[in-house]
Order: sequence, then C-alpha cells, then structure tokens
Amino acid sequence: QSQEVSQARIDYHVALQALQEHGTRMVCSGKMHTDRICRFDYLCYCSEAEEFVFFHSNSSVMLPNLGSRRFQPALLDLSSVEDHNTQYFNFLELPAAALKFMPKPVFVPDVTLILNRFNPDNLMHVFHDDLLPAFYTMQQYSDLNDEARLVFMEGWGEGPHFDLYRLLSSKQPLLKEQLRNFGKLMCFTKSYVGLSKMTTWYQYGFVQPQGPKANILVSGNEIRQFARALMEKMNITKVDEPERDGGSAEDEKEKEKKDEYIVVFSRSTTRLILNEAELIMALAQEFEMRVVTVSLEEQSFPSIVQVISGASMLVSMHGAQLITSLFLPRGAVVVELFPFAVNPEQYTPYKTLASLPGMDLHYVSWRNMKEENTVTHPDRPWEQGGIAHLEKDEQVRILASKDVPRHLCCRNPEWLFRIYQDTLVDIPSFLEVLKEAMKARPNLKKTKVTSTVHPGRVRDPQCQTSVQTSNEAKLTVSWQIPWNLKYLKVREVKYEVWIQEQGENTYMPYILPQQNYTFSENIKPFTTYLVWVRCIFSKNLLGPFADVLMCRT
Ligand code: UDP
Repeated sequence: QSQEVSQARIDYHVALQALQEHGTRMVCSGKMHTDRICRFDYLCYCSEAEEFVFFHSNSSVMLPNLGSRRFQPALLDLSSVEDHNTQYFNFLELPAAALKFMPKPVFVPDVTLILNRFNPDNLMHVFHDDLLPAFYTMQQYSDLNDEARLVFMEGWGEGPHFDLYRLLSSKQPLLKEQLRNFGKLMCFTKSYVGLSKMTTWYQYGFVQPQGPKANILVSGNEIRQFARALMEKMNITKVDEPERDGGSAEDEKEKEKKDEYIVVFSRSTTRLILNEAELIMALAQEFEMRVVTVSLEEQSFPSIVQVISGASMLVSMHGAQLITSLFLPRGAVVVELFPFAVNPEQYTPYKTLASLPGMDLHYVSWRNMKEENTVTHPDRPWEQGGIAHLEKDEQVRILASKDVPRHLCCRNPEWLFRIYQDTLVDIPSFLEVLKEAMKARPNLKKTKVTSTVHPGRVRDPQCQTSVQTSNEAKLTVSWQIPWNLKYLKVREVKYEVWIQEQGENTYMPYILPQQNYTFSENIKPFTTYLVWVRCIFSKNLLGPFADVLMCRT
C-alpha cells in the first residue's frame, strides 16, 4: 500500500517537473482545421475558466504553429461534423512559469481522446457522428487502445445511449461537468484531440440542403467491422450464416427459408405508423415470413441488435432508429417509409448507408402519396412540428403544400410539420413498391465474394510504329500483365488503351482482351501519339495507367 502511494507521489513529482520544464507539446496531422487531429503531451484544462491551457516553455512544441490564424476560425473541429461553429476547439496560452501561482495540477495518467459528441440524444447521430468516428480515430493511434479514456466536451449529460459510448474502451468516459471533480487544474499526460471524419457519409444541411457527403471515403467493409466489434462487446453472438456444406442444397434452402424473418422497427411516440398491425399482417402474408417488431421504448439496445443482425428485411418509418440497419446481415432489405409531402430523395442518410459499396444491403423507400392518410399535429410545440406559432398566411401555405421544398437544417417549420406526421400506410401501394424492388434485387449468393483487389500497372509497355503510305501508318502497342495478376484468379481481365495525338485535347479509348494491338485507323504518318495503358479486372476494377508512351510514326 505505502509502496503504491509513494510510487504515485514520485510519478506526481516527475509529471509536475516535466510540465514545468517542458511545458505542453502539440503535434497535429491535417492541413486545415476541418481535417486536423492533435496529439498533446501535458495539455491542461482549467475547470474554472472552462478552457484548455497550453503551457509554453523553452522546449514546448506547437505544430502547426499558426500564430493568430489558430483563431481563424479555430485549431480544429472537436466533433466529426465539418466546420460547425459550435464545435470548435482551441486553447489558451500561459508561460509554464505561471504554474507557480496556479492550483496544483491533477494529472490524468490515461491516454485520452478528447472530443465533442454532436447530438447524443439521437441514435443516428450517436453512431454516425460519434461512435464510428471515435472507433476509427482510436484505430488510427495505437496508444488509443482499450485502456484509453474518452472525454466528452460538448457539455451534455450522459444521454440515453451512454452504454454505447462505454463500449469504446474499458474505462468510463468522462463528461465535461465531471472534470471539475478533478480540481481546478487537470493535465492530460497524453491526449488526442479531435475526431476522424473518414467514416462519415452524410451532411446535415447546415450550408446546403442535407445529403450524402461529397467525397465518401468509407465502405461497407469498415462499417461492418465496426458493427462486428460492437456486437462482440455487447456479447451478441451473431446468428450463424447457414452452413454451406453438409445436407442437401434443398434441405438448406428449406431451413434457411424457415428461419428468415422481417423486423418492423416501430416508433411509439412520434411519426407513427397508424396501422402497424395491418402492415405486419401484409408483410407476413406477402413474404411468408415471421414478422417481429422492435422499438427503442420496449427493448434494450443489444436485444434489438441481436434481432436485426439475423433479419432478412428491416421496415421502418424514416428516423434515427434506421441507423441499426448497419447491423443487418449482407443481402438484407431496408424499407424506409416517408410521411406525406416528404421526398425520399432529399433525406437519404439511411439510403446512403445501405448503398455504400460492399454494404450489400438492398434499399427501398415508400412515400405516403395520399393526403387523407396523413395525420398532422399543428398544435404541438414547434420542435415536434407544430405550426400554431406561425403567421396565419404561413400556416395556410404550409397546409396547402404537397411537397416540402429543399431547405437548410434545422428549424424549417414546414419540414418539421411534415416529418412529424403520423401515417396510415396504404398497403397495396406499399406492397407494390416492395414487390418491384424485390424483383430487381441482385442475388447476393450468386454475385458473392466479388473481389476488390485492383490490378497493378501493366509492365514493360512499348510501342512500335511504321508508315505505310503518305496518309497511312500503324501503331503497335504491347505490354506485360500486372505483377499481381499471376497470384490472382480474376474472372475477366481487360486492358484499356488511350491514344492521344500530341497537342490535341481529346483521346481515343479502346478496350482490349489481349496484351498487344496494332492500331491503323486514325493513325497518321509523321505524328507523335501519347499512349496510356491500364488493366481492368472484372469490368470495374481499374488499375493505374503505366507511364505514358511517346510514339512517333
Ligand atoms: N425515438 C423513438 N421513438 C419515437 C420517437 C423517437 O425511439 O417514437 C428516438 C429516435 O430513434 C431518436 C430519438 O428518439 O433516437 C430522437 O427522435 P427524433 O424524432 O427527434 O429524430 P429522428 O428520428 O427524426 O432522427
């Protein structure tokens, strides 16, 4: 016991001395505040001032050293939402000498990840903005491991999904309000500040109407690996994929069919499906499958994930609960219902998720087109779509409109009015949409294990030329297969050749099955051609072009 205490005391003095001598050190990645993550030694936090503090000494480091550009507009985004002005991170500066006059710092020994949760009350935001980005930020820095400490600085309470945040590491995450318990000045021995935005796929419409991000960098593979890791932490045993060998194919088909079921994810307070029982009956009859309902109000989150991870189809009204489609097995169908006057094409966080390459989900939307089947709530508070507070003219206009025009986040009253309607689902039109979609559904078992290995560059590209007559010439291009091809079984290997006359700004593209070709059409004598060659696997896996060839006829 005394050993431990004195050990801690020694560490304390070592730490204090290090802080006083070396001050804070910061090294960041990223060129802009929107793609920056910073690693600190001895970043401190003053709970009285509610500010982070950087202590300058002779050996402190601040990279990037932006000077006052650090405030234009900030050092970095503390949440994964791009450039949101309520989510900026910065610190105050002090000379390390000032420590003499300050309260004794408390040191946090854990490697810490400091971030803002964006909207911890909403399940979609929890996954998209916080859990996935934090999970992959932790994968990026190896000392952010299972022992890492997370600190949430947005200032909210735990929220309804705190258990999910607990899954990210074995240590209890800290909230901003809890930091005062550590005294007036606390210093993080090692910390990372900021979140990777690499996994986000949706922008919420702060500067332009909401929609998929312009440059999506995540694929179904990373989403599914995250889902699997989370399920393991929740102690969910994934319903096993049906065995491929043993038993006749027919038996297997039968067994699989029997086990298949549909999940209806129901909301019980807002945006209701008014004839849910009828919808369930219709689904059961149409697909001859069991239909189970789940809701966040009725089940624990892990038990919902357990059910969804074995489902063939997930049906739900538009809403945050649809983020759980990331736990669906490959090949499953996501059916999203939209209330009257809400265009499914304009609200696509779940469509975009389901459509990520390699996610292998089939997405279908249905929209209530019958005004008589909608139930509005004009008298509710504005944040639940009420419009009673608006001018009479505006109320009349909204009530007459049959399509919410494009709008920015987050308080557009017409949007809120329409999105919080309850819906009587018209069963015939719903089944019609679903049947059409199922016809077009690609058979996953047949198309399965499409490789994502790209070709290398073709090797040893060469050209030979000859002049036939004063206006005819030939250009022969040849090359060797990419190096990685000899280790691969590829269904279809093709080559693409681009030929550009020097000085022209167009080119002629050719797709070829073989490793050489003699071009004579459109080839002129005494002309220089630039030739590019690349390999293509299975129609759409493009390799890089080899170095350009200069071929003079
Ligand atoms: N929610 C729910 N049942 C309801 C209404 C909402 O479980 O009847 C959940 C919903 O899944 C989300 C949160 O409460 O996690 C906030 O719902 P809201 O309607 O504000 O957001 P949206 O679902 O439109 O994203």
